[in-house]
Amino acid sequence: MQSLHPFRGSIQEYLQELSDPDRYRPNHCPLCHTPDPLRAHGFYCRTVVDVQYDGSIRVRRYLCLLCRRTVSLLPEFVLPYLRFCIQVIGLFLVSRLLSRRTLREAAGAALQPNMPYQRGQFWIRRFQQQATAVCAALASLTTVVPARDFLTRALQMLEAIGWIPAHRFLFAQLRVHLLGWPRFLVPQGCCFHRLAALSSS
Ligand SMILES: [Zn+2]
Repeated sequence: MQSLHPFRGSIQEYLQELSDPDRYRPNHCPLCHTPDPLRAHGFYCRTVVDVQYDGSIRVRRYLCLLCRRTVSLLPEFVLPYLRFCIQVIGLFLVSRLLSRRTLREAAGAALQPNMPYQRGQFWIRRFQQQATAVCAALASLTTVVPARDFLTRALQMLEAIGWIPAHRFLFAQLRVHLLGWPRFLVPQGCCFHRLAALSSS
């Protein structure tokens, strides 16, 4: 299971803080809810691309001694299952969809001037599919502003809240992925009943 590392800061600060297993050790198991602290269980590596960083980071894992399942603490600047960080994707989507820039200009705004245009189209497609759910889920955090469509409204709400704080809330509280969970993870990733409740409230 992926949980959020309760850390706020830059990638460099994250990498420095990671060496102390006690600092953010979960004091209970989020899977079986046993009230015992989890045991440090090494790391896994993943690649990330942020506006100022392109490389790999370590992600700390913990093990529940009762249910024998692992919990990894993902830093909040990355999205599960995506190599590009939230800031990069946010800059691109705002530039392309709110400011109506070209794909190339939006890639430049995200400091990825040479990225293939298909990557940007992939982010746009996934965000379009997720916009209505994001609007519903974020309604408790910010005033809903009039907008011509859900896509614009979702982007305006994310800009008002901040992309990373919004992701922190969506992922930690609702298990909602900003760009939607990969299809094979949908059943466990997203709490449909909670989203439905939010939509109707
Ligand atoms: Zn457990």
